[in-house]
Amino acid sequence: MASIEMRNIVKKYGDGFPAVNDVSLDIADGEFVILVGPSGCGKSTLLRMIVGLEDITSGDMVIGGKRVNDKAPRDRNLSMVFQNYALYPHLSVFENIAFPLRLAKLPDDEVRRRVNEAADVLELHEHLERKPANLSGGQRQRVAMGRAIVRQAEAFLFDEPLSNLDAKLRGQMRTEISRLQRRLGITTVYVTHDQTEAMTLGDRVAVLRKGVLQQVASPRELYEQP
Ligand code: ADP
Ligand code: ADP
Repeated sequence: MASIEMRNIVKKYGDGFPAVNDVSLDIADGEFVILVGPSGCGKSTLLRMIVGLEDITSGDMVIGGKRVNDKAPRDRNLSMVFQNYALYPHLSVFENIAFPLRLAKLPDDEVRRRVNEAADVLELHEHLERKPANLSGGQRQRVAMGRAIVRQAEAFLFDEPLSNLDAKLRGQMRTEISRLQRRLGITTVYVTHDQTEAMTLGDRVAVLRKGVLQQVASPRELYEQP
């Protein structure tokens, strides 16, 4: 697990107005921070710079006390869960979860141990041999999270993971993500435009507008009427 420190982070695409403009934010080890703001305000860009999928124009990204600006995604040991969770249709749930461990060429028994552990946490045991097409949306999302868990990453990054689910499933998954994060105590940055998620999931909410960090507060401070 690791803290994430952003120091004066700027991102310019081409020579236009900065998509992310001088953002500084310290996220403590184990903290759950929600990133909100209108479409186009720079949320995805910021998340992608944390994980290393986007170059930083200026500023420093410090993860676990180490500057990672020049580190490739594979050397940052973070786990990103995308909106379209991109499971492999031809692989079983087990192999979908095991995928990053197979890439890393871990021994079979270690792969089995870690996948079973993740399946316990996510209550996926009875589905391990099924194909993604035979799962519900919520189950698929859990498989995607399983893949993130087995990597034993330093932090989780979520980019609107629930936006493709219906309202009922969203509610269930909200509860599960919250439980899982507390249980694992893993540093988490979660992008959403859903106010319920922002109000219920995080320790703090960071509000972005036109690339600028406008406010960072507890959900209580931000959403409760005086
Ligand atoms: P959000 O996730 O909050 O919707 P984004 O980070 O996707 O916002 O986008 C922030 C701004 O950067 C937007 O103005 C968007 O058009 C621009 N942008 C995002 N990705 C690219 C890109 N690859 N090339 C050029 N501009 C981009
Ligand atoms: P390859 O190692 O064959 O290039 P990928 O392109 O899938 O495989 O991934 C490259 C590296 O990026 C991986 O080793 C891993 O560390 C990292 N990576 C892949 N997917 C994710 C993800 N969802 N979240 C965070 N890092 C990832």
